[in-house]
Amino acid sequence: MQDNYKHQGQRRQLVATLRKKGISNEGVLQAIGRLPRHIFLEKAFEEWAYQDKPFPIDCEQTISQPYTVAFQSSLLELEARQKVLEIGTGSGYQAAVLSLMGARVFTIERHKPLHLTAKQMFRDLGLHGIRAYHRDGYKGLPEMAPFAGILVTAGAPEVPTALKEQLQIGGKLVIPVGTDDQRMLRIIRVAEDQWKTEDHGSFRFVPFLPGTE
Ligand code: SAH
Repeated sequence: MQDNYKHQGQRRQLVATLRKKGISNEGVLQAIGRLPRHIFLEKAFEEWAYQDKPFPIDCEQTISQPYTVAFQSSLLELEARQKVLEIGTGSGYQAAVLSLMGARVFTIERHKPLHLTAKQMFRDLGLHGIRAYHRDGYKGLPEMAPFAGILVTAGAPEVPTALKEQLQIGGKLVIPVGTDDQRMLRIIRVAEDQWKTEDHGSFRFVPFLPGTE
């Protein structure tokens, strides 16, 4: 893995851009400042890897825009060593950011090739705190529940009940909900049988699909 001064300089610029756009969580900004994003992309996109843009990855999916990664990660309001479940591993970038923020990360992907590539990437980066699964994220990861945070990185037509049920009390589910474009919802489990929903604006994601491939 090649990470040179140019990449490091570009990352500092990206962090400055994210601050200007309103991201203030220092843990997220530090993680994005440390993590080489170019290695998660096709070589052809390397030059643009530190622009605040999404890019295509395998299986017709996308690596989210850094602003979106930072925004969703901030909404989780994580404390060190807390357990987080990510649905939609994709390139693995978002999971790696959460791991560098100090979370214990579990991540699920429905496309086997993406799952395998991301798993290898976590090994190469020495991110041993991430556990990756090839599964259908609609069901969550009941055997590892409850989670302090659940982060969905694909646009869901509705909120899967299983995910709400796998939050600890006080835990937060951050999920873009809608078909064409999505509203970023944060659902907080306030009691055993009570959830509070907040709306954090409009975003656009690839679809959350059932089953595995
Ligand atoms: N977090 C990723 C973004 C990937 S795009 C990154 O940082 O690169 C969203 C991902 O969600 C895609 O890879 C897609 O295959 C996956 N996905 C969609 N529906 C899913 C489901 N039901 N279970 C698991 N993963 C799903």
